[in-house]
Amino acid sequence: MITQKRRTGGFRIELPNLRMQVDPGPGCLLSTRLAGRSTTAVDAIFVSHSHPDHYTEAEVLIEAMTQGGTKTKGLFLGSESAVEGYRDESGDYGPVISAYHRELPKRVVSLSPGDVVRLPAGHLEATPTDHGDPTGIGFRLEYDDGVIYYTGDTALTDELFDCIEDATVAIINVVRPGSDRIRGHLCTHDVIELVREAPELERVFITHFGMKMIRVGPGREARRIERETGVETIAPKDGRAYEL
Ligand SMILES: [Zn+2]
Repeated sequence: MITQKRRTGGFRIELPNLRMQVDPGPGCLLSTRLAGRSTTAVDAIFVSHSHPDHYTEAEVLIEAMTQGGTKTKGLFLGSESAVEGYRDESGDYGPVISAYHRELPKRVVSLSPGDVVRLPAGHLEATPTDHGDPTGIGFRLEYDDGVIYYTGDTALTDELFDCIEDATVAIINVVRPGSDRIRGHLCTHDVIELVREAPELERVFITHFGMKMIRVGPGREARRIERETGVETIAPKDGRAYEL
């Protein structure tokens, strides 16, 4: 995030009736414009946890979604830390949007693992993570054509295997290459283990690359995952759109 060797604006999922911006970190709005996409055509914003690479432009995106705060519309979904704020012995997290911005969307929902939100496109279920922010979440989005699973930031746990089991598309935050583990995050080796246990998977996207990952090349790691699991794996380029 602090070097901007790669951009940190998160990603957007576009289904026929849902345009959802996920984890709008630094540069989200500018990257969206540079990619030639609308900044205002957004139906929902999802913030997985209260670390700045995932939330700093959440308020900016709320302004975009609500036409500068002139229209009450859209959905803001976030972890408990992101929406309500959360404090325990590990730290004091969020909330990541001001009281003013909380009033702008039509609905603001604080999600804990297992909670389900009904959307025009289907159901979104918050999934568990094991990460610095104890309330961090990912999601499973069940829609007409399958199940999209986004891990959020997390270490490898047994629960992830349940979340990915019937997914058709997985978006996986993988910070380090090979088996180079860092606490609270996944490495390439973890992704291979996960993907091997997901027989329905048609496509995997890897993102959230750390500096070591960028040095070895995310494309190389994607090819390795593909080779060892047989599932098409993409390391997206900044600003590019991909078919789900
Ligand atoms: Zn994090």
